[in-house]
Amino acid sequence: MTDWVARVLAEVDAATAVTLERVAELVRVPSVSGSDAEHEIQAVLATEMALGGLEVDHWRLPLAELLAEPDFPGVEVDRTEAWGLVGRHPGRHDGSDGPSLLLNAHVDVVPTGDPAAWTQPDPFSGLVVGGELWGRGACDMKAGLVAALTAVLAVRRAGAPLRGDLLLACVPGEEDGGLGTYATLRRGWRADCCVIPEPTGLDIVPANAGALTFRLRVPGRATHASRRTEGVSALDKLLPVLAALSGLEARRNTDVDPMMARWPIAYPLSIGRVEAGDWASTVPDVLVAEGRLGVALDEPVEHARRALEDAVAQACAEDSWLAEHPVTVQWWGGQFAPGRLPAASDLATRVARAHATAGGARQETWGGPYGSDLRLLAGAGVPTLQYGPGDSALAHAADERVPVAEVLTTARTLAVLALDVCGLA
Ligand SMILES: [Zn+2]
Repeated sequence: MTDWVARVLAEVDAATAVTLERVAELVRVPSVSGSDAEHEIQAVLATEMALGGLEVDHWRLPLAELLAEPDFPGVEVDRTEAWGLVGRHPGRHDGSDGPSLLLNAHVDVVPTGDPAAWTQPDPFSGLVVGGELWGRGACDMKAGLVAALTAVLAVRRAGAPLRGDLLLACVPGEEDGGLGTYATLRRGWRADCCVIPEPTGLDIVPANAGALTFRLRVPGRATHASRRTEGVSALDKLLPVLAALSGLEARRNTDVDPMMARWPIAYPLSIGRVEAGDWASTVPDVLVAEGRLGVALDEPVEHARRALEDAVAQACAEDSWLAEHPVTVQWWGGQFAPGRLPAASDLATRVARAHATAGGARQETWGGPYGSDLRLLAGAGVPTLQYGPGDSALAHAADERVPVAEVLTTARTLAVLALDVCGLA
């Protein structure tokens, strides 16, 4: 085993330049959720996998069929096309299935925000500056994706005779709900365990809070602004609802799972978009606010939804206008249930051991306050955790970047983990 570990690590190290160039190349593909680049990048990766000698399953997703499923996790952007992609390095199986490891990485990224807020002029540059690779998607999560690909190809090139399958799934549509992982599972892909190399700063993240996207519709009554007291401003009527939501957030964060203790607010409730009125001197007759509700670890999604609906209803009951014209709550878009690695799984121990063998520094273990594809995999019976390069605080932010050293450590760890999980024939 030790011999194979050394050989596989040597293959990862020999591929360092290729790994970094590949991260930069993928960052330069602006695969924003719902864009054409989201499936173009899948085609690029399918070619790379095939050239690397993997068996490739690259299929067009039956979008209409998937979106109609009752347990579909939701989308927030329109797509006319989307593709699934799994690369397989087959194990020798020895008459049994052999223990299999799945590495799962999303290819989509969020929009860049205002490019002027970026230090580097091009948010899709892929430039390496001061030991960090820059660009939207650098840490979330093209670096993790490429680290996984490097690990799989290194195991293959070293010729390590794995007993079980080593799989790499590249998925679209993670950022807006989990389309790609949902579709991959529905196609029948499974494994005995899974690592998602999302940015964890090389810590072990075996649990995620959930996140539910909602829309509030606050009614008002329009009138000329010069006679505003004769109308009802929908904007003003949002205020008691906001106060109620802020109280709800405080109550939902009084006693959180120790796994979430490091976060100032483990389960945030936040309004991200507000739209009201159509004329500066008209009292707005309707306001639409969209936000996300954090779901506690192990909390049923229905319970969280009801808590928000009750808080809104309570605020309406206490306001004479809203009592007659109540705010409506709609659940739409990404509906991320919380999820966690089952207590009986030894995956966290194995990842910690592989990380140490790969030369990684001391690690911590914590739960992520964000939703991820972990819950879809865990829900399908695939024990899953997250471990990968970069700081999640830079994901979705200006100046997103990833430390090069962490990318290489992730590739080394995942290669060692593959030998450990899949076993040697
Ligand atoms: Zn991500």
